[in-house]
Amino acid sequence: MDSTGPGVIKVSQEALELHSSSLVVDLHTDSLTVAQMLGKDLSRRHRPPAGFQPWLLHADVPRMQEASLDAVCFGIVTHPWPHKAYQRALRNLRYGKFVIRKNAQVMALATSPAEIEDARAAGKIAVLFGVEGMHMLSGRLERIEKFFELGVSYITLAHFTSNRFAVSSADKRRTDARLDGGGAAAIELMNSLGMMIDLAHVHTNLIEDVCRMTTQPVIVSHGATQALRPTFRNLSDSDIRNVAGTGGVIGLIYASEWLAPRGLDISLAVVVDHADHIRKVVGVEHIALGSDFDGFIATPAGLRDVTDLPALTQLFLERGYSHDEVAGILGGNFMRVFRRVRSTA
Ligand SMILES: [Zn+2]
Repeated sequence: MDSTGPGVIKVSQEALELHSSSLVVDLHTDSLTVAQMLGKDLSRRHRPPAGFQPWLLHADVPRMQEASLDAVCFGIVTHPWPHKAYQRALRNLRYGKFVIRKNAQVMALATSPAEIEDARAAGKIAVLFGVEGMHMLSGRLERIEKFFELGVSYITLAHFTSNRFAVSSADKRRTDARLDGGGAAAIELMNSLGMMIDLAHVHTNLIEDVCRMTTQPVIVSHGATQALRPTFRNLSDSDIRNVAGTGGVIGLIYASEWLAPRGLDISLAVVVDHADHIRKVVGVEHIALGSDFDGFIATPAGLRDVTDLPALTQLFLERGYSHDEVAGILGGNFMRVFRRVRSTA
């Protein structure tokens, strides 16, 4: 990419070195879904199609490598209702594995912390899968186990619609929502398998219930804070405390829509503002990255695509975060959660 353009941030040698020597993990992108929809080969470098800058094609293998991204969780996404969602999810998962096989020189499936480390040591991008919404169980609890066997590392309890097991944060009428018996059984099963529980998109009451019940740390794979941008999609301070109380992490989203009110000029520094807030409320060890790249999002100025990721490391350093703290945000904090979930299963 050219080095000029709106909001381009100059990255120091110190930041570049810290960034490339750190383990960098992105907890959620829709790049697999977009590649499948548009028929794009992730092994090749793409430019967003005219008219779709900056919403789509934020990442592919060559650009992820350029960004020193070591691991990425591809979201498995389907239509929002349960009918045939399970079959569709299996098909998308098969497609994801096909992409990994086709790019075996540069990508490897990772279903554990050790496999992330192995892929990195081999110079490959570790690919994890996350199922975005329990409507994809099509009503059957035991399919959690099937997804786990197929290499899915986490399940988001709900997406933009509620399902049999959980209520979505988009379901604003459900002010009395609670985790019911079906939801509790799902949490228990995921805990026993060592499968990560993702609370992105989940109703605040359920965040509270799940965090009280889980025996393992949870993740919010992609999110931001209500303190800076009050919207149903973002986390309240009590949500943030509940997640941190389990030892969990919150992946910072890069979608302008959830970072600041519409109409403002939004720069990458706003992502760091949300991080600052989480740090203030619960501490830096609960922060991770969860871009939502390719989720039809407009990225802030200074982040044209994944290759600008080192700019985020630069901004954290400028904001006074220590090297260890930045390395934690980039991937270390998530690895702590993943290890713990696996070891206590
Ligand atoms: Zn999402």
